[in-house]
Amino acid sequence: MSDKIKIVRTVHDLRKAVAKWRGRDQTVGLVPTMGALHAGHISLVKLAKKKADKAVVSIFVNPTQFAANEDLSRYPRDEAGDLAKLAAADADLVWSPGVEEMYPDGFSTGVRAGSAAKDLEGAFRPCHFDGVATVCAKLFNQVTPDIAVFGEKDFQQLAVLRQMVRDLNMPLKLIGSPTKRDADGLALSSRNAYLSEAERKIAPALYAAISALAKDVANGADIPAGVADAKRKVTAAGFTKIDYIEVRDAETLEPASTASGRPMRVLAACWLGKTRLIDNVAA
Ligand code: AMP
Repeated sequence: MSDKIKIVRTVHDLRKAVAKWRGRDQTVGLVPTMGALHAGHISLVKLAKKKADKAVVSIFVNPTQFAANEDLSRYPRDEAGDLAKLAAADADLVWSPGVEEMYPDGFSTGVRAGSAAKDLEGAFRPCHFDGVATVCAKLFNQVTPDIAVFGEKDFQQLAVLRQMVRDLNMPLKLIGSPTKRDADGLALSSRNAYLSEAERKIAPALYAAISALAKDVANGADIPAGVADAKRKVTAAGFTKIDYIEVRDAETLEPASTASGRPMRVLAACWLGKTRLIDNVAA
């Protein structure tokens, strides 16, 4: 463990650092993030270190995955805090390009996310997954990692990226990592910083409701009735708007049926005032 970590801000310097490792036959793991790091991100770094010799953590708040009405300008940023946490986690390199380095003048090519992007988040954030897929394709080409680690917290994102890697024959393996939670069940998220004290107390009700729904449908309960009950619970707890609470096939993300015997996933996005929280659990 060291108290300093190397940070590079140009593709040129990144490639130089990675080439040095490659020259020694060392494998490389990538953990893409938007910064404002918490214990969930750090768990991904630790997994990357287990699966590869070197761990690169990218920090880039990607403008193209935010819609005009979303929280790009107020998204939390804390580079000094992030670097200290990454040094403590024994990450090897931070890749932190500016917007000009990532999208220089004339940039105009992109990835169109596949069928996994079509609804759930895709319905509420129409261009989001194209932005995510494009920036991840760029990150994969820049870092050329053997593996990349993503959180199950963003379950649909992981499905969209797995589809991209498969469809476009990208030469790396994606690894999913379980969601880290606070003691009361709330999934750690950089966006939790937006919550007022009162909202923070309400927030764990989302995990409680989807966990109960997951347990019920795993035991064969009726899905529409269970979903309606979960929606009632989060509304009663104080959530102000429900974008969706749905039970889906865990692999295809198509609507689930308890009769199929296949693994299911409960996915949700709900608003607490001005903050949109997403979460998901296995059923
Ligand atoms: P973000 O910085 O929010 O874009 O997230 C970067 C990566 O961290 C993504 O792969 C997320 O899924 C993952 N992540 C975010 N929150 C958590 C969490 N609570 N537990 C595990 N991974 C997480």
